[in-house]
Amino acid sequence: MASMAMELRDSHGRVMRDLRVSVTDRCNFRCLYCLPETEEAANFYRTRWTGDRGKAAPAAIAYEWKPRSELLSYEEIERVVRMGAGLGIDKVRVTGGEPLLRQGVEELVGRLSGVPGVRDLAMTTNGFLFGRKAEALRKAGLRRVSFSMDSLDRGNFLRMTGRDGLAEVLDGIRLARDLGMTPVKVNAVVIRGMNDLEVEALAEFGRQEDLSMRFIEFMPLDASRAWQRDLVVTGAEILGRLRSRWEMEPVGVPERSAETARRWRFTDGRGEVGIIAPVSEPFCGHCNRLRLTADGKVRTCLFSLVEHDLRPLLRGGATDGELAVHLAGIVRGKEAGHRIGQPDFVQPARTMSCIGG
Ligand code: SAM
Ligand code: SF4
Repeated sequence: MASMAMELRDSHGRVMRDLRVSVTDRCNFRCLYCLPETEEAANFYRTRWTGDRGKAAPAAIAYEWKPRSELLSYEEIERVVRMGAGLGIDKVRVTGGEPLLRQGVEELVGRLSGVPGVRDLAMTTNGFLFGRKAEALRKAGLRRVSFSMDSLDRGNFLRMTGRDGLAEVLDGIRLARDLGMTPVKVNAVVIRGMNDLEVEALAEFGRQEDLSMRFIEFMPLDASRAWQRDLVVTGAEILGRLRSRWEMEPVGVPERSAETARRWRFTDGRGEVGIIAPVSEPFCGHCNRLRLTADGKVRTCLFSLVEHDLRPLLRGGATDGELAVHLAGIVRGKEAGHRIGQPDFVQPARTMSCIGG
């Protein structure tokens, strides 16, 4: 039996505290940096956007989704989270794909909110279905939600997500805030030539609506492998844009904090933004995250090239102690950091939608 003092420490001295649980690989959006709908969307950096809805729709890219039998059940996910919490995990985020597409996700939230040791349970969603689920999620114990919203312009939102859903997402974000699921964070992936000119408008939106806007660098995790360095708007560039408009100052974080966002507050007291720059300013040295995919694979890094399948153990009669020892062994092998920009960088086979962002 694993000792309760066992923790998830890797060979570089980092201790895992944060588990991201993907509950589905499916999505109702088709963000072009994640799951582009068509070849045209996948090649967005080459083609000009006309927004012409009149012309024949180009053929959709066919994605293969995992069959249900391969997805971990809610019981299985809860078991992994309980085991992780016993090993020091105290932060759990439910994500996907689009987590609100998984039937009865509020049941899972209810199960996870009761796990001793989990002090922070959150969800990341594109927000389109949030209005329908918000009350049930809150009753089930969800206290925090992060939304993804890359544009405040209806046409650009459609271009980036493949769906005409800006109004629903805005309603969802405001509902979360009104329900007190705070701090409500809104993430925008910034891509050159797509939404970089909206950085100030998005920041202003955060200020007006009393939300924390977070800008994220585009990472090479897109299904179409269209990522190019030129398309990355660096954190420094984003900050430069903001600081030429507003007076801002850094928000101090404890040294060696695992927080990925560098936070900046507006000196007029109206809110703050976060800048997440994994490409230009990697934070791997402080990374305390693990990921569990919807089909039961543990990933020690977003950019891992190997995954560790827990399903055979979960379904093969392994004891909690055996599972814990196995997980601790997986964590010991966590990579020192990602290799983006290095000559030997290899993009993982699975995309952000499968890994769980
Ligand atoms: N569907 C939900 C959503 O969009 O919020 C949850 C899953 S999504 C994969 C989680 C986060 O990953 C989103 O904030 C999304 O913007 C981000 N993401 C997806 N692909 C990305 C990429 N290539 N680079 C940077 N962030 C990405
Ligand atoms: Fe779906 Fe989220 Fe990926 Fe967009 S980023 S396609 S909403 S999983």
